[in-house]
Amino acid sequence: MGYDKVEVPAEGEKVAVDEDDELIVPDDPVIPIIHGDGIGTDVGPAAQKVLQAAADATGREINWMRVYAGESAREKYDENLPEDTIEALKEFKVSIKGPLTTPVGAGFRSLNVALRKKLDLYTNIRPTYHLDGVPSPVKQPEQMDMVTFRENTEDVYAGIEWEAGTDEVQEVKEFVEEQMGYDDVIHDGEVGIGVKPITEFGTKRLVRQAIDYALEKDRDSVTLVHKGNIMKFTEGAFRDWGYEVAREEYGEEVITEDTLWEERDGEPPEDAVVVNDRIADNMLQQILTRTDQYDVLAMPNLNGDYLSDACGAQIGGLGIAPGANIGDGRVLAEPVHGSAPKYAGQDKVNPTAMILSGRIMLEFMGWDDAADLVRDAVEQTIVDRKVTYDIERQVEDAEKLATSEYAEAVVDNLYDLA
Ligand code: NAP
Repeated sequence: MGYDKVEVPAEGEKVAVDEDDELIVPDDPVIPIIHGDGIGTDVGPAAQKVLQAAADATGREINWMRVYAGESAREKYDENLPEDTIEALKEFKVSIKGPLTTPVGAGFRSLNVALRKKLDLYTNIRPTYHLDGVPSPVKQPEQMDMVTFRENTEDVYAGIEWEAGTDEVQEVKEFVEEQMGYDDVIHDGEVGIGVKPITEFGTKRLVRQAIDYALEKDRDSVTLVHKGNIMKFTEGAFRDWGYEVAREEYGEEVITEDTLWEERDGEPPEDAVVVNDRIADNMLQQILTRTDQYDVLAMPNLNGDYLSDACGAQIGGLGIAPGANIGDGRVLAEPVHGSAPKYAGQDKVNPTAMILSGRIMLEFMGWDDAADLVRDAVEQTIVDRKVTYDIERQVEDAEKLATSEYAEAVVDNLYDLA
């Protein structure tokens, strides 16, 4: 299709997908990038430089296509999320974005949520692993090596809620009390009410993605994290549908924890992925007390929000934590952190989270050699104690670098390691 205000690079090919939604990636793909708001203008170009070097060092080339959302889009298009951007992310399949600001209260709804919905990016994935030299609040951060799969489209985040004092909330309250029989549950006085939909469709496609990932990456287990003991028909259903996928769709490649103990005395078949489940509050303890026993975690939206941040805190926090949103045959990588407006444009913040988000993107493209180079080069730079302010303030004798200097140091290490 034609674009209104962005240019498709003259060189480069499109990433395609086959009938199973597997990506077919050329050696010179066109990749759309949104630098993002606030510090996005610092970390976006820094990540671009490192990812370009990783492609170059492995005999490939990325043809970047700048697209716009948030403030940059308001300047160019006078709107937050132009059709050009949505179309580019759909057409080119694999892309990366920096953070976008969401003003609190009135104004507009989160552009991040809008993007995920429009592109049906139904899973947010966050690999959480420790890099040597990164300060951590726990004693053995190297034990952390989990990947969280968070459902992105439903649960209490579906946005079905009614404000206290409105006619609508009164109507819903009356329906719940009079028609559904919960007449002595909601306290008198003002009330806000929300709905928590968890569907079989939403659950199963998420759990499938988590199991596929575990199988492909030789991971040992997938843990369904839920609060089904209390919310039986939503979180409990998530657990049950998750197990149904494991039992019915994967044959001997996947075994449930119950079967493992009933039939095999706890000894898993070689290369099989074990599917188990844990209650969410217990899981928040387990990530601290039994860190090395968990691998891939699959969960509904709210649990995923809490758990993935708690995991991220153990490996260095927001400057480090990478993520990506994935749908069928589509990836949009993005760091966990926001736009940190107070540091915007200062060439100060840590671009590692955005760089490592790019690493996830490279992995999904099947460029594992380039992805590993990115990780190793970042780690080497931190081990060399060449770091940005957030790490420097926690590490003795470290050299404080600007965002752009740090990216250059990573690129130097990357070529040395290649
Ligand atoms: P934030 O932007 O993540 O920043 C909070 C703090 O985290 C910063 O003040 C800084 O801590 C640290 N930090 C974040 N990114 C860092 C980096 N790259 N390097 C080093 N330190 C970093 O969170 P926020 O202030 O709550 O949110 C600001 C805006 O971003 C909001 O509009 C929010 O809605 C939006 N947001 C967007 C996304 C997204 O686009 N996916 C995600 C989250 C939030 P110190 O001050 O201690 O150094």
